[in-house]
Parts: sequence; C-alpha cells; structure tokens
Amino acid sequence: MVTKLLVAIALAIVVAWSWPAARAQAGLRVLISVDMEGVVGTVTGDQLGPTGFEYGRFRDFMTREAMAAVTAARAAGATDIIVTDAHGNGENLLIEQFPPDVRIIRSWPRQLGMVAGVDQQVDAVMFIGYHASTNNVNGVRAHTFSSANLTRVALNGINASEGSWAAAIAGHFNAPVIMMSGDDAAIAEVRSAIGNIEAAETKKSLSFHSAITLTPQASYDLIAARVKAAMARRSEFRPYKVATPVTVDISFKNYTPAEMLAYLPGFERTDSHSIRFRARDMVEAEAIRSFITTYRIDMTP
Ligand SMILES: [Zn+2]
Repeated sequence: MVTKLLVAIALAIVVAWSWPAARAQAGLRVLISVDMEGVVGTVTGDQLGPTGFEYGRFRDFMTREAMAAVTAARAAGATDIIVTDAHGNGENLLIEQFPPDVRIIRSWPRQLGMVAGVDQQVDAVMFIGYHASTNNVNGVRAHTFSSANLTRVALNGINASEGSWAAAIAGHFNAPVIMMSGDDAAIAEVRSAIGNIEAAETKKSLSFHSAITLTPQASYDLIAARVKAAMARRSEFRPYKVATPVTVDISFKNYTPAEMLAYLPGFERTDSHSIRFRARDMVEAEAIRSFITTYRIDMTP
C-alpha cells in the first residue's frame, strides 16, 4: 500500500515536471537572423550605415523584409519567433514594426553572434539580407565579418561565408537553416556549403557596388512565398554539422594582427597575414572569432 502510494506520488511528480516541457515542445520556435547587404536595393554604404543618406529608408526595407518572414512563418505554424539584428551596429531593425509576441536581439558583443538566441529549442533558422563571402568574386558588398580587416575565414579548410558559419553554429544546436534571402551570389554560396535551402533572390549582383534589384514590395512578396515553401517542407532540412574539433583559418588585410595573435598559445601563424586555431566546437570557435574581430584595449565602458 505504501509502495502504491509512493509510486502514485512519483508519477504525479513526473507528470507535473514534464508537462510544461511537453507543452513547450508542442510550439514551433523560429529564429530569423537579419543582415543588410542582401536586402533589396542595397548596393553601397549610402544605404548600409547611419552616415549614409539613404540609410533611414533602407532600415525600413530591411525591417519589412524581416516582417515578411515573420508573418509568413507565423501563418505556417511558427508560435515563437526570435529576430536577431545581425548587421553593422546591430541597431538597424525598427522594432516598433514587429508584433508584441516577437523578441528581438540587438547590438554587440554577444555570444553566438549573428545567430544569438539559437539553442536546442529552436526548430528552424532563416537568414534575411545575407551576402556573399570575401572570397567570392561576385556579390554585392561581399565580405566575411569585417570588410575592413579580414580577407578569409575558413572552417575546417573550406572558405566560409557568414551564412555557412552561422549555419554551423545553428547546427551545433541541431537547428536547421531552411531559408535565406540575399543576392544571387550569396544564395549560390550558402547553398553550395549547406544544401539546397529555400531562397529569395532580392537582386542580382553586377559588381561589388552594383546590382539589378527587385522593388521592395516584390521582395517582401518573394520572401513570404519562400518562407511558406520552406515551412511546408521543414522536415526535409537537416542541421548543418561540421566535424569537431573545428579548425579555423583567418587571414587579415594587415600584418600585425596575425603577428600578435601568434603570441598566444593555441594560435599558429600559417603565413604573414594568417593565423589558425582549433576550437572544441562552433560555440567556442564563434567566441574566439568574435573576440578577434571585436576586442580593443580602449573599449568602453
Ligand atoms: Zn554581414
């Protein structure tokens, strides 16, 4: 009798403990990471930062592209949406345009960088406004993390774009990337790394600073359609998993960063402008990458 009672109590505890978790799993959490160089119409610094004369309008276009993805994801069953502002100062998205149940990640530094907010509870990831890597001969404003300072980032010996790097971080948490938007070069590059995800081509690059672009409304409509298609075949996409420990190669435009990083144990100088380090996994690799491209002794506060 005592045993039966104990079993009943134990069962009640187990049910009470697991019920909220079971409910949480019934939802569908989507993370939308938003960069700007792949947004409709962006071609130069005039659109991409606070000193550009068209920046204010293009923040609005960027926000509306993100909102097109949010709205389409919700219509397709997403119940919990996190939007990550992943461009420039991380303060581009006009947050008042989002519905009350969306959460938005802003500014830097932050762990997990462009996909901050990803964890084991995220079911799907989307990239909006992404661009090609610095190693791509095509692509509007093609760069990897820092156009001013880096000439190459490679992951396990393969040139990485911000998209493939972010996909590998998401993959660490078993979250598949299912859709992206950007120019034709960005889409081709990310697809060649992580597979044939759904994609909305907002423009075709004509050079580093030129493109033939859709109009904003056409871009929002295309993004919504591709998000809908991605959500419909969500189960087909697999997380992008890279072999661990990961080997990361970074090449700098200048000589001194490579020279000084090689002072540190664990950093190998592979040529005059390049270093290599190994990391346990993508979380550690991203933390080190973020440190390398952000740290300054005069940082305040
Ligand atoms: Zn970027």
